[in-house]
Amino acid sequence: MSDTLETLRGYVHFLREREGVRQIKLTRAAREGLAKVVESGRTSKSPEVGTRVPSRPMNPGTAETAVPTSTRVAATVTPPAASGAGPAPATIAITGSTKIEQLAHLNERAQACQKCPHLVARRHTVVFGVGDPDAKLMFVGEGPGEEEDLKGEPFVGRAGQLLTKMIQAMGLTREQVYIANIVKCRPDMPPGVPGNRKPTREEMDTCVPYLRAQIDVIKPTALVALGATAVEGLIAATGSMGSLRGKFHDYRGVPVMPTYHPSYLLRNQSNTEKRKVWEDLLKVMEKLELPISEKQRGYFLVK
Ligand code: URA
Repeated sequence: MSDTLETLRGYVHFLREREGVRQIKLTRAAREGLAKVVESGRTSKSPEVGTRVPSRPMNPGTAETAVPTSTRVAATVTPPAASGAGPAPATIAITGSTKIEQLAHLNERAQACQKCPHLVARRHTVVFGVGDPDAKLMFVGEGPGEEEDLKGEPFVGRAGQLLTKMIQAMGLTREQVYIANIVKCRPDMPPGVPGNRKPTREEMDTCVPYLRAQIDVIKPTALVALGATAVEGLIAATGSMGSLRGKFHDYRGVPVMPTYHPSYLLRNQSNTEKRKVWEDLLKVMEKLELPISEKQRGYFLVK
């Protein structure tokens, strides 16, 4: 599939899943441009030279046709690999004698990585991960957003600030845990389009060996997978977040607790949803044998 088509597919997914957009209005020119991109993705491995891609798929001012994101656009592009397919095996050699050295070497490799040329072209930084190399607890997110890409650190935007509060509510600090993502480069967006998109299956498979190597070095006692992409990248589990969360899964012998991504909580600020995430984190605290006060047990209890 061409990079352009792959990017569009990711963008449509982002609009549907993150923004709740059900319809994208396309001008006739945009529809024709999109059809060409789809056709070139079907018939050739590389993008057709001279194919013009609408840089902004939505143009309400000149809207001619409404295309439901869940059918027309998404149906014309290749669907992601079955989520039960599981992550690619780790292939990155770990060198160095201490955890600090090993992570530093892995970081150097990641910083020099050119495996996704379309992401290399747009990235400002490679967002490797932060925290304690000896952390007992590791949080895994989806991928850097705009702010993370600029700062070179995971979870520093609004969702990141909420994650920091969640960590503090557990009685920990960001410095005591380790935070990383499934992909280390920000998934690129069409020029001029704000926001972030979910990484494609191909981008995840390409990048996840870095995360696997990080986990091999750190050897955490427990992992928290933040959101569906983290679950998809880490474990071969299928189903909705609602059905996956609340119980431990297994990542090569390490217990993994799936829970909602903090950006979900930013959109759904009810105590009911906060409590679900908090109950997942309480289970993680129990697994880590962290002290839990009565006050902590009662956070976000819905009366
Ligand atoms: N969301 C993520 O999944 N990761 C980040 O680093 C920031 C936001």
